[in-house]
Amino acid sequence: MPTPKVSLAPSCEVDLDKDGRHHGYVRIQFSSHRSAYGWLPVPIMSIKNGEGPCALLIGGNHGDEYEGISIIIDLFQKLKVEDVKGQIIFLPAANAPAVYAGRRTSPLDYTGEANLNRLFPGDQYGSPTDMIAWFIKTHLVSRSTAIFDLHSAGSSIDHWPSCKIRLMGEADKDEMQMDFLKLFAAPLGSVGDRVHETTLSGEASPNGIIYLSTELGGAGRITPWIRDLGDAGLKRCLKRLGVLGDDYQVPAPEREVRLMAMQGGENYIFATTDGMFEPRVELGDEVEDGQFAGYIWNIREPWREPLKLHFNKGGVVFCKRNPALCEIGDTLLFTLNDYEG
Ligand SMILES: [Zn+2]
Repeated sequence: MPTPKVSLAPSCEVDLDKDGRHHGYVRIQFSSHRSAYGWLPVPIMSIKNGEGPCALLIGGNHGDEYEGISIIIDLFQKLKVEDVKGQIIFLPAANAPAVYAGRRTSPLDYTGEANLNRLFPGDQYGSPTDMIAWFIKTHLVSRSTAIFDLHSAGSSIDHWPSCKIRLMGEADKDEMQMDFLKLFAAPLGSVGDRVHETTLSGEASPNGIIYLSTELGGAGRITPWIRDLGDAGLKRCLKRLGVLGDDYQVPAPEREVRLMAMQGGENYIFATTDGMFEPRVELGDEVEDGQFAGYIWNIREPWREPLKLHFNKGGVVFCKRNPALCEIGDTLLFTLNDYEG
């Protein structure tokens, strides 16, 4: 008889099939200089109450996007088992090594810049981030009815708050997704019809799993009004999904959502020189085609005129670079345009 092999693939301390409230870690095997026989802890929590839909809540897909992390931890701590119909799985710090380092990307992988949301479907014997992606896809996505992937923009970008869906071509699911946009009640609701390979959305929508993502501010901080609108919006969506019981009270939406289309390349302004970016617009501003947008100052040769930036395509200012220093190729600003249906 051949010698049996023992798997070093990620494992989960929490039995996700068990009713009740449970917490523990996904264990990511990582034999490092500091800890030869150690594993990396990715926190996971589950509240299950009989049969029903399963909602997967993801925070920390990028490690420096904090509103979603706060919302997911707080929801787990306050929800009772009897509030839930079906199951909610909480993964507040999905790329935990990146979250603990306060970075968008994990410093532990070969490149030192491993972006979880570019590594799906992952690899059970790959780098730590490969293994996390593999675990999410194999053990969590497959059991989910809907995934709520709560992003903010991260340290290098700030966003006007929004949530986004990808139409799936299935009438009942698309109707629910459009309801989610309105119920989430961020100022902007973005409607797309495609997903990118190697992202979590690429594992969800094409496989019939409802997927909503957000951009809840950014700049590597928590903004209270944006965090709170995300908190209320998520609860309304969970209620619409049917995973929160009839008696669970949610606040009414605070605003009408402006529906926006997914942006194209002409909506972006990229840096075409290195320097210091000075925006002259604010997030949420309405701007025209060709409108003046800001400067890039040359701080090595300060006697030179600054580069003047203009919007190619107007719309609502949705994204703005956060640090002033910029390099060629950095996204500085981009706009969104109204969704025409
Ligand atoms: Zn993100």
